[in-house]
Amino acid sequence: MNLRLYDTYTRSVRDFEPLNPGEVGLYTCGPTVYDYAHIGNLRTYIFEDILKRVLSLNGYQVKHVMNITDVGHLTSDADEGEDRMEKGSRRTGMTAWEIADLYTQEFRKDLQRLNIIEPTVWCRATDHIAEQVAMIQCIEEKGFTYKTSDGVYFDTSKLQDYGTLGRLDIEGLQAGARIEMGEKHHPTDFALWKFSPPGQKRQMEWDSPWGTGFPGWHIECSAMSAKYLGPLFDIHCGGEDHITVHHTNEIAQTEACYGTRLANFWMHGYFLQIDEARMGKSVGNFLRVQTLIERGYDPLAWRMFCLNAHYRAKLNFTWDGLDGAATSLERLRNTVFDWGAPGEVDGEFQQKFLETVNDDLNMPRAIALTWELVKSGLPEATKKATILLFDQVLGLRLAEWRPTEETIPEAIITLVQQRQQARQEKRWKDADILRDQVTGAGYEIEDTPQGPRLRRKKQKVT
Ligand code: AMP
Ligand code: ZN
Repeated sequence: MNLRLYDTYTRSVRDFEPLNPGEVGLYTCGPTVYDYAHIGNLRTYIFEDILKRVLSLNGYQVKHVMNITDVGHLTSDADEGEDRMEKGSRRTGMTAWEIADLYTQEFRKDLQRLNIIEPTVWCRATDHIAEQVAMIQCIEEKGFTYKTSDGVYFDTSKLQDYGTLGRLDIEGLQAGARIEMGEKHHPTDFALWKFSPPGQKRQMEWDSPWGTGFPGWHIECSAMSAKYLGPLFDIHCGGEDHITVHHTNEIAQTEACYGTRLANFWMHGYFLQIDEARMGKSVGNFLRVQTLIERGYDPLAWRMFCLNAHYRAKLNFTWDGLDGAATSLERLRNTVFDWGAPGEVDGEFQQKFLETVNDDLNMPRAIALTWELVKSGLPEATKKATILLFDQVLGLRLAEWRPTEETIPEAIITLVQQRQQARQEKRWKDADILRDQVTGAGYEIEDTPQGPRLRRKKQKVT
């Protein structure tokens, strides 16, 4: 019954105990706002939302902090290439500040569409330059930095357990390092502060004790998480790609400055793939929530698709899979709607559900349990109350859903009424002919205990 979660740091499922009774500090790495989020990114945010909802179901008060990366994230995670924001600015013809605002708004819209609960605290990297400079100074005072011609770097050889989270083979990396190391002393060293290129004015740059420039990507998360949650907090999340570089470096910074671990649990969502390749801009397989909407899907079908896989398994995207998720969602919604008013929650199902989600967020099993509840012989009012409780975690907006009242042409309604009449009079052949006419016009009739329900046939997209 205890909440058990997989911790990447120890590579094991452990009992979750909060550092402070009743409260959980949760930090999730947020988007780099140089472009729209794709449904792969959003898979990670859905996983984090499920985690948060499960923590709440267990009675914890969750303080959730999410950053907005609007500076410092270079095109390569290893401090090379150009700033993604400057690149996005060139692509769109807008300023870096304008695209940061635009894509932050778009991101929040996606969260709402997927019923992802917003964080308690949003924090933008560019609003916390002073905190980042102060933390770099702290790391410098402890003797972990050196300066090169292009920035201030963290000397990873000075930290005994550097790379533990990612199980990095430091010696192997050292041996494999070649010329691209530039002036770095070790291949794993990383930038804390980068200087603006000589003779060039960046759109986003600030003065610092070391020279004009901008913070590295990793320092923002260490500085802002410390500000809002303290140097050591309960759970830190992100996508699996963050394990070896970004989170490894966040840990190094916090250990160097504060001498503490950064988080008690490290949790990572595994990637969404498409045709076995990582979803990303460069690969040309970039799907947005907006793309799904334009193709006639409810955004929550995407949430349903994600719930069918465990967060620690890679997930392959297919349109057939999405169709399947959309159909189950629709079935579930219609069923739940027909159940009418909720009664009392069924204790046994409640218990089983809690055990399932507490077993490292086993959502595929939680969905199976949901269908078990649907098929069970319990009274409808009991089922309704129980499923609404499940939905506190599933987040499928089952309570709010109403069958869509799209305008159905008069002629179709007349045909349906004539068919009802024919059925009552047991003129089965006539009823069948009328049904065929309705289907031919692009509508489906579903006979429910409450009478026939009519809806437009879904258009198949390829
Ligand atoms: P970014 O905006 O690139 O900083 O990424 C935002 C979040 O999405 C991070 O937690 C990434 O680890 C995660 N992410 C990136 N690509 C994928 C993917 N294909 N599937 C799942 N999560 C991803
Ligand atoms: Zn981060």
